[in-house]
Amino acid sequence: MSSEKFKAMEKNYSKETLCVQAGWTPKKGEPRVLPIYQSTTFKYDNSEQMARLFDLEESGFFYTRLQNPTNEAVAAKIAALEGGVAAMLTSSGQAANFYAVFNICEAGDHLVCSSTIYGGTFNLFAVTMKKLGIECTFVDADASEEEISKAFRPNTKCMFGETISNPSINVLDIEKFARIAHNHGVPLIVDNTFATPLNCQPFKWGADIVTHSTTKYMDGHATCVGGAIVDSGNFDWDAHADKFPGLTQPDESYHGLTYSKAFGKMAYITKATAQLMRDLGAAQSPENAFLLNLGLETLHLRVPRHCENAQRIAEWLEANPKVKWVNYCGLKSSKYYELAQKYMPNGSCGVIAFGLNGTREETIHFMDNLKLACIVTHVADARTCVLHPASHTHRQLTDEQLIEAGVAPDLIRLSVGIENVNDIIADLEQALESI
Ligand SMILES: *Cc1c(COP(=O)(O)O)cnc(C)c1O
Repeated sequence: MSSEKFKAMEKNYSKETLCVQAGWTPKKGEPRVLPIYQSTTFKYDNSEQMARLFDLEESGFFYTRLQNPTNEAVAAKIAALEGGVAAMLTSSGQAANFYAVFNICEAGDHLVCSSTIYGGTFNLFAVTMKKLGIECTFVDADASEEEISKAFRPNTKCMFGETISNPSINVLDIEKFARIAHNHGVPLIVDNTFATPLNCQPFKWGADIVTHSTTKYMDGHATCVGGAIVDSGNFDWDAHADKFPGLTQPDESYHGLTYSKAFGKMAYITKATAQLMRDLGAAQSPENAFLLNLGLETLHLRVPRHCENAQRIAEWLEANPKVKWVNYCGLKSSKYYELAQKYMPNGSCGVIAFGLNGTREETIHFMDNLKLACIVTHVADARTCVLHPASHTHRQLTDEQLIEAGVAPDLIRLSVGIENVNDIIADLEQALESI
């Protein structure tokens, strides 16, 4: 659906250049900076021109719920960074994951998902999608291919996992998951929020669709909730036509058009835009897309700093006797060190999970005594912050349920910012001394 103007830049530019320049390529006399197209609608010269847009016979803008030039430019930048063929922005990461699955699953269908995923996504798949008639089987992502394959059913339509899981910081074996998914004739969807395309491009390892909560590192400044879906264009829907009738059979709401035939590699994102955005409408506001773009322009400068700071702090925490355990995939002691080296040799993310030698009260006391690091329901922005999932995001769960979800009751999620690392360490030190 993207108009020619927003086609991803040449593939041979490096990621740093794409962060700064991809997406918006102005012509003579146009604004150098991506403008906010603060308009719900777009003008055409006659009725016939508009009709062709509604029939998907031509690409172009007509209503911002479906497409807006600011959003398209930012989506094109994210597609270029992931090495995909097309992308769409959504109003949140939740909407991105919902649309990514709902675009190929309907009532009576089933998906297989790693059990260690973001709590919001877990609820979406386990509770809300179930009410829509879509069932999810959660699997231990570290289990063998044989074991995980047992979760598949004839009506399974996709597989889902997170490159680095939030908040447990487990690393997904993307190649293994892709192999299992493809052996069963379904695509693999990977939520790449924590790694960002700078540290990992899941498409290179066989993933078919990537999602993001752009709220996190991509925005990076905690200003806008947003999401994105990117398609690699690699999954052959027609080869598994019986499983994906929504893509391979005529859509009556568009005069019997068939997405896979009419749009080829663009079929999946075109359908998500033309059907799901049209009917459900979780569009990102162009103003938020503008701010997201500013964040993306410095992503390649911020992410390495987050990772460097997190590595130093993880090592410091591990050496501190008041700290019981640390899970950071950049540590040699981590169960996920080898996987992280394979998939993210330049660094993983700025988020660390750790637990203290002490009671739950002492954990809370430690967090309350931090001065620089704030307690906020957020992660992956410029400012260092902490959260105790058992007391906050996951407080409705029992200790047993927490462990099942990969969240230890004593887990502290530390999101390391881009301040001076010595200041962050000094803050952690004074708070640890207070217990
Ligand atoms: C935050 C988050 C989401 C949800 O995104 P929102 O933008 O908050 O809706 C999904 N997946 C992961 C990995 C996240 O960290």
